[in-house]
Amino acid sequence: QEVHAAEMERTFIAIKPDGVQRGLISEIISRFERKGFKLVAIKLVVPSKEFAQKHYDDLKERPFFNGLCEFLSSGPVLAMVWEGEGVIKYGRKLIGATDPQKSEPGTIRGDLAVVVGRNIIHGSDGPETAKHEINLWFKPQELVNYTSNAEKWAN
Ligand code: ADP
Ligand code: MG
Repeated sequence: QEVHAAEMERTFIAIKPDGVQRGLISEIISRFERKGFKLVAIKLVVPSKEFAQKHYDDLKERPFFNGLCEFLSSGPVLAMVWEGEGVIKYGRKLIGATDPQKSEPGTIRGDLAVVVGRNIIHGSDGPETAKHEINLWFKPQELVNYTSNAEKWAN
């Protein structure tokens, strides 16, 4: 059927510096790709600490906030936007629980991470945060509109 990209749900996914350094980029992208979601934006960036603080603004009162922002800005982050029906909620399902000790096997964190401070991946937790995070990390012209052959069959 016809898929109107502009109406499709989108989420912000980022592979954190630990995931990039451990060589897990292709493994993680492949899980979203094989599920049937569509990649619409991608870039490798080293965020400044100020930018990391903006990204995690809702956690600024937490004791781990400073360490978390130091960590996110410590090296390359692979920032992405993925599109597809239910991608926000299901993306979180693919990622698994925040604490890898509690993530189910079969999830990205469950299979590939051990501790909460090094849980390798970020995913937006709802429609409002998804919009906010996509706008924070990407300019509108960095989002690519296209029809993928795969989505005709998967969506
Ligand atoms: P999620 O990434 O699953 O949405 P949160 O938004 O609650 O989780 O937290 C953001 C990030 O902060 C987590 O992914 C994790 O890297 C870090 N974090 C959360 N809780 C802790 C904690 N108790 N100690 C250290 N780091 C934490
Ligand atoms: Mg979160």
